[in-house]
Amino acid sequence: MTDSYDIAIAGSGFAGSLMAMIAKRLGYSVVLLERGRHPRVVIGESSTPLANLLLEELCRRYDLSAIAPLAKWGSWQRKYPDIGCGLKRGFTFYQHRPDRPDDPNESYDNQLLVAASPHDEISDTHWFRADFDSFLVQQARELGVVYLDEVKVDQVVCRETGASLHGARHGETFSVNTHFLIDATGPRGLLHHALELGESPLPHFPATQALYNHFSGVTRPAPTSLSESAPYPPEDAAVHHVFDGGWIWVLRFNNGITSAGIAATDELAAHLRLEEGADSWYRVVDSIPTLQTQFGTADAVQQFRHMPRISFLSSRVAGERWAMLPSAAGFVDPLLSTGFPLTLLGVERLARILEVAIDSPHLESDLEVYERRTRDELLTTARLIAALYANMSNFALFKKLCLLYFAAASYSESARRLGKPHLASSFLLHDHPQFGPRSRDLVERAMHTSPGAETNRLIEDILRAIEPIDVAGLCKPNPRSWYPVNAAELLGSCSKLESTPEEIEALLQSCGFYQPQQQS
Ligand SMILES: Cc1cc2nc3c(=O)[nH]c(=O)nc-3n(C[C@H](O)[C@H](O)[C@H](O)COP(=O)(O)OP(=O)(O)OC[C@H]3O[C@@H](n4cnc5c(N)ncnc54)[C@H](O)[C@@H]3O)c2cc1C
Repeated sequence: MTDSYDIAIAGSGFAGSLMAMIAKRLGYSVVLLERGRHPRVVIGESSTPLANLLLEELCRRYDLSAIAPLAKWGSWQRKYPDIGCGLKRGFTFYQHRPDRPDDPNESYDNQLLVAASPHDEISDTHWFRADFDSFLVQQARELGVVYLDEVKVDQVVCRETGASLHGARHGETFSVNTHFLIDATGPRGLLHHALELGESPLPHFPATQALYNHFSGVTRPAPTSLSESAPYPPEDAAVHHVFDGGWIWVLRFNNGITSAGIAATDELAAHLRLEEGADSWYRVVDSIPTLQTQFGTADAVQQFRHMPRISFLSSRVAGERWAMLPSAAGFVDPLLSTGFPLTLLGVERLARILEVAIDSPHLESDLEVYERRTRDELLTTARLIAALYANMSNFALFKKLCLLYFAAASYSESARRLGKPHLASSFLLHDHPQFGPRSRDLVERAMHTSPGAETNRLIEDILRAIEPIDVAGLCKPNPRSWYPVNAAELLGSCSKLESTPEEIEALLQSCGFYQPQQQS
């Protein structure tokens, strides 16, 4: 069998299917090639305000109305209650120290709570990827994308005019010729192997490993007077349990499943013997009283998966007639849920390139820009997360370093929602003329900062750097480290967004910030 398509996309995770739907909407013939078969277990589940905004914008621009409800908790629950989902009201961080094994909910010192939404209706979500990705593939097929699963691609030949893929499906050989090939197969995926591309280093980033699973029967911690007054229920969030050299994530879905795993430096992973799987997991969980209680009666629903290396950066991201999505080009760490927004920014940029036409004389230079931006964003993310790993035992600094991320993310989201994307044209504002270089300096300093006076100086400098882009009140004194979403802060920061209070008020109304009873 030999077929020809304008565009071939390898990998039918959410990003490959979304890219395929967009390409189809732009009038191209599209084939989507998948090695496995849906539904399948995939890790990478927690969305963010920026990720959901990007999804919403893509759905609007390319008329994907069936996908749009998945960008918010409320519309998702009404339209697709059978697609597994988790409520993510914010980012919860608890620090654990072997010398203080108390419940992190009982003290402000060892927690950081950053709300991402003011109420459930417009909240972010965790995507139960088995359901979510199957649904997207089904939608792509309904739009006319040709979908071939269980394919084994053995050879990829890239030429000036296009690419051909050769392989086998269900015992028969096949070839696909295409004018443009998009790799959405994830890290160390199809093109990385087929074109024998090397890996690039992620400077300063520690070598890390992961061990993870899905569980049933994970209990919620009992509410305390502290957790009951928090800006959102702390467990309705991406919950991060941080300790020296690593951290554990806990993401609850509404179908009884909880996703949990540990990411750790090689040194800690060796100490914990992560490669042992279940035994290692329960040893770690049993050493943290609050997790021991939650997971004590839980059952693992899959085999434990050990990932011997989490981070990755491909030496190439795009070529003459091919491009990798950011998720195939590289990955840093799940710590700040950066995978989805980075991937969706890549989908958006490739979609703009496809809008112009794949035989445009600018294709080559457009792809060079795409490659540079993708790498820059991954490297910026790696620098910040490296600084966080370096300070997991210096939690005062860890918390403030996180604010670099939250400040840039909330500023970017607001700027985009106001129709002023030029104010925030890069992930983490890394090419912002002032914030970009300052933030780079700060995270570099944080790699070598000791607790005490040096940490205090760095914290002051972080708050000074954030102030000009802070639209969420992150710079204000906050002894609890609880950051709610606050309309007054955004209104008071309107000049930072080159906007009037009326524009901000209109934005708050249009994005559903106020619940119906609050409007009256
Ligand atoms: C441990 C961990 C936790 C993470 N947690 C988060 C998180 O909480 N939030 C977040 O934003 N990001 C997270 N990420 C990142 C997130 O997983 C990715 O950003 C996301 O999965 C990218 O989606 P995708 O559709 O591009 O690729 P994937 O989900 O990786 O899908 C790739 C698809 O390609 C198929 N495939 C692979 N090879 C081939 C081949 N040769 N031929 C054809 N098909 C192939 C696979 O079967 C799969 O269906 C996490 C990553 C890891 C490793």
